[in-house]
Amino acid sequence: MRSILDLLFPKKCIGCSKIGNYFCLSCIANIKQTELVCPFCERLSLGGMTHPICRRKYGLDGLWSLGIYEKPLKNAIQKLKYKWIEDLAKVLADITIEYWAKKGTFLLDKIKKDQGKNWILVPVPLHKKRQNWRGFNQAEQLACNLGQKLDLQMENALIRVKNTKPQVSLDAYSRKQNIKGAFILNSKCQIQNSNVILVDDVWTTGSTLKECGYILKRGGVKSVWVLTIAR
Ligand SMILES: [Zn+2]
Ligand SMILES: [Zn+2]
Repeated sequence: MRSILDLLFPKKCIGCSKIGNYFCLSCIANIKQTELVCPFCERLSLGGMTHPICRRKYGLDGLWSLGIYEKPLKNAIQKLKYKWIEDLAKVLADITIEYWAKKGTFLLDKIKKDQGKNWILVPVPLHKKRQNWRGFNQAEQLACNLGQKLDLQMENALIRVKNTKPQVSLDAYSRKQNIKGAFILNSKCQIQNSNVILVDDVWTTGSTLKECGYILKRGGVKSVWVLTIAR
């Protein structure tokens, strides 16, 4: 059913402005996929799995991203963050899973093999202050929609205790320093021995996601894969 808002402000394709949906089929087909890389050394890796020599006890186990951080994906992610549009997160989650299934990657096969048992989705949290100001967390919206589609549980297993400076303005070293100690585990969540898919919108240098992975693994999580819309 179309609401009055849809009639007044019809949905337009973020890529080409065609009226109808946030992403038209040809723009979806034109999303440039990223090469799958190891999250540790960022060199090519089969299925995005961390190379055996790059594995660390509290390190990430793999990384899967949908596309390159450029138009139209970039515009979509910016809209997701700064201007809340209803169901854009759902559209992005649907596209992600569609591409994912087509590529038949290692991670999805693994989840299927385990029948989703012990797999949970965890969004990168925002600080309470920022979340209150913005009204929502875009990573949580994505994780929630991915969870519905994959039939997996979403848990807010991490809490951001430090209201960090925006990472965009910092170099790689400062990013790492900035994010240190920014997250703690949510004691309400049972995460021991689970496998986590850590969800965020973009992988830039990975320092935030690596820190989240570190905290989760220190808390007893078996494996942590990162899933982002863009890289
Ligand atoms: Zn389009
Ligand atoms: Zn590597």
